Amino acid sequence: GMTRTRTRTRPNLLVTGTPGTGKTTTCSLLVEATGLRHVNVGELVNTKGLHDGWDEEFECHVINEDLVCDEMEDMMEEGGNIVDYHGCDFFPERWFDRVVVLQTDNSILHDRLTSRGYMGVKLTSNIECEIFQVLLEEARTSYPEDIVVALQSDTIEDISRNVTILTEWANNWRPSGTS
Ligand code: ADP
Ligand code: MN
Repeated sequence: GMTRTRTRTRPNLLVTGTPGTGKTTTCSLLVEATGLRHVNVGELVNTKGLHDGWDEEFECHVINEDLVCDEMEDMMEEGGNIVDYHGCDFFPERWFDRVVVLQTDNSILHDRLTSRGYMGVKLTSNIECEIFQVLLEEARTSYPEDIVVALQSDTIEDISRNVTILTEWANNWRPSGTS
């Protein structure tokens, strides 16, 4: 809340990146390894109706960012969350201790999105999103430089390595002000 300051005892991590880069797969494995809570924002939007209708062109809900942030505030303040979403500029900066941007080779991503059934403008706009590193740029303009990290996610080995790196980070994390 606004009237008290409290230090989290467990960290909050944001895993972002273009759709298909492996956010949900990575987060699921991270949850198993760390015991932190997986907050899949897309699912939250759907189950709690935190949207302003349906986008026909992109075949997805139009997210209501204010409703989403209100819904998440208490658990983010508590800490211990791994947040999974393909956007990052509307969350409060103070929520996160680490922001991970997953990245995937264009042709690999193209295959993943095609097998997910993406076509036409939905397919090309997501591939362009990855080519132009939109999420990395968004993360770098929204969060302190030293908490943003880009990780490659092309192969199963990449996923294993990323989960190991992030599990180590989560286990070594300490609240600020303590040694
Ligand atoms: P996102 O949540 O970012 O949209 P998913 O985790 O749902 O991505 O992954 C999309 C698809 O790509 C899944 O079928 C998943 O198994 C596969 N995938 C994701 N990352 C990798 C990777 N690094 N290596 C191999 N397959 C991957
Ligand atoms: Mn996902």
